Formats: sequence, structure tokens, C-alpha cells
Amino acid sequence: MEFTEITIHSLASPSLSNQMEKITGWLFFLFFTWSLFPSIAHAQLITVRGEVNLTTSTMILPHEHLLVDFIGAGEVGEHRYDRDAAFEMILPHLHRLRETGVGVLVECTPALLGRDVQLLHELSRAADIHILTNTGYYAAANFHFLPWNTHQRSAADLADEWIAEWRDGIDGTGIRPGFVKIGVDAAPLPDVSLEIIRAAAITHRETGLVIACHAPDGAAIVEAVGIFEEESIPLDALIWVHANMDPNTERHLRLARMGVWVEYDGISPQTLELHRDLVLLMRNEGLLHRVLLSHDAGWYSVGEPGGGEFRFFGDLQESLIPMLLEAGLASEEVHSLVRDNPLQAFTPRERE
Ligand SMILES: [Zn+2]
Repeated sequence: MEFTEITIHSLASPSLSNQMEKITGWLFFLFFTWSLFPSIAHAQLITVRGEVNLTTSTMILPHEHLLVDFIGAGEVGEHRYDRDAAFEMILPHLHRLRETGVGVLVECTPALLGRDVQLLHELSRAADIHILTNTGYYAAANFHFLPWNTHQRSAADLADEWIAEWRDGIDGTGIRPGFVKIGVDAAPLPDVSLEIIRAAAITHRETGLVIACHAPDGAAIVEAVGIFEEESIPLDALIWVHANMDPNTERHLRLARMGVWVEYDGISPQTLELHRDLVLLMRNEGLLHRVLLSHDAGWYSVGEPGGGEFRFFGDLQESLIPMLLEAGLASEEVHSLVRDNPLQAFTPRERE
């Protein structure tokens, strides 16, 4: 197709150096023009190394993973891997990420799926990159990643636990979550998932943290919106994670118009046209300011030899952005997508 000349995934291509020059060229162009834009005042992200006022025009990836363990809530734990080996495996990918212009990575691995805030802290310092971690529970995948007693707990009780992590830090480390991450399966949602969503809403009211909700189906987000409205929580405190998986684009538009952040993640060489077309759809409807873009990629896979295969999070910077510019997006619009939108989404809201 017409944009293949600016993708770099075919390493066998004889024109690779030519392509690299083009990418370096547009990166330079974007950074130069972005440096002229005013930053959002008072934006303060809660990172694993503390609160950060982001003053540079660095890119932000709102949904990636560095270490994941799918073993389940009953067996998960730090005893399952060697943290030093994981650190050594992950670090070069973060160095490479810095070279693509990304300065902030939002690490979306929830508790009981391999969230290791000590590891994230060490990586953040070593790679000089800001990393956000999260509080919350993941009720998708048939509750495989929920603590056994969650079904007996109230939303208020769950929220107390998450608010304590925000106030005091996670597992005695002093490292605080920068957002709430929850997960639900497709609608209709069972009671425990509704309690998890309500717990997230209560946590938002106390902390101002944004809520990223894994939901492969927009009907589940519609249910979440109902709970947010009952709890009088503004809908821009909610990110619909994996919206790209729902073919009902009317629902993307409707939820975005209501204020929900619509996150198109899972960017890979195979999805570039889909992601381009979704962005263009939102742009044509005047909804670009509600869109987040990321790969949902990476990670050291606990239980696999050497941590398995790490999928690098570079297709947005290296392929999708050139495609969007080629399709007519202005530099300012790209800047909003990869910098202003995620910064606004993950900056904690003023509390009442
Ligand atoms: Zn994810």
C-alpha cells in the first residue's frame, strides 16, 4: 500500500538506511515544532520515582508492560522469577525506547499479574525514563487474577485497600500508583466486576487517579459509565482500554462524546491500517482529543525461558505516526495524540 515506504519492519529491505533517515528526519521535525508549544500548566504525574512535572515535549506511551506472569492469583509472586535477570533482559528495550523519543511509559500490569514496583523503580532509574504503576484488581479472564475472597468484599472495602496504596505506597515500598487499573470481561457484567468498577470510582473520588479499564467490549464500558454516573464521577476519569477490539465504532464515538478516553492499543505491524483508520474516524468527528494510542506490548514473561520474546513498543513512533502525517494529520494533532492527551488523562484530578 501507499505508505509502505515509511515502515521499517522489513529489515531485509535494501532501502532501510533511506527509511531510517526519513524517520530521523520527521522525529527531528516533530521535536523542533513541539518545543515551541506551551506545556499544560501544573501537570504532575505520579511516577515510581515520585511526582513529576513534565516540562518537555516527550512522548508518552499510555499502555505497555515490562513484566507479566499469567500463572494466576493463587501462585503468583516474586519467588517465580529472578528480578536481576528480568532487569537485564528489559533494560536494553527501555534504552531503545528513549531513542524513539518516549520519556514516559505507563506500565499497566495489575497486582497479581506480575506488578513488581521495585523492579519498575530500578528500571526507571537505570534507563532515565518515567514509569507509572497502578493500583486495582483485574476481574477479566474469569477471575483468574482476583484474590480468592474478592467476591465477599464490598466496593468500599476494596477502595480502602487501593486508596491506602496511593497514600502510603505499595507493599511497604513507598512507591505510589499513578492510576487505577481494573479489568472486566464482556457484558453483561457479574456482580464482582460491578463492585470492582464501583471501587475504582470511589478510589477516584478520594485520589483523583484516572481509571484504565480493560474491556474488550464497549457494552461493558457502558455499564461502567452507569456506575460512574451513580457515583457522580466525571467520565473523563475513565479510559476504555482495548477499544480497538470493538468493531462497533458508533460506540467509540458515543462514549468519546460523553467524555470517556478511547484507547486504541495493540498497535503492531499487522494493525497499522486499522489504527490509522480509527484515528482518522475520530479526527473527522472532532474527537481526536479523546484518543490514546499505545502498543500493549513488551514484557518479560515469567515462566518462559529467558523471559520469552519481548515485543518492542516502537510501531507507533516508527510507523503509525509517519502514516498519520502522510494521511494529512497536522504536527499539532500528532503532538496531542502522543503527548497532550496521555498527559491530561494521567494527571490526577483536583480533589474536592
Ligand atoms: Zn495490557
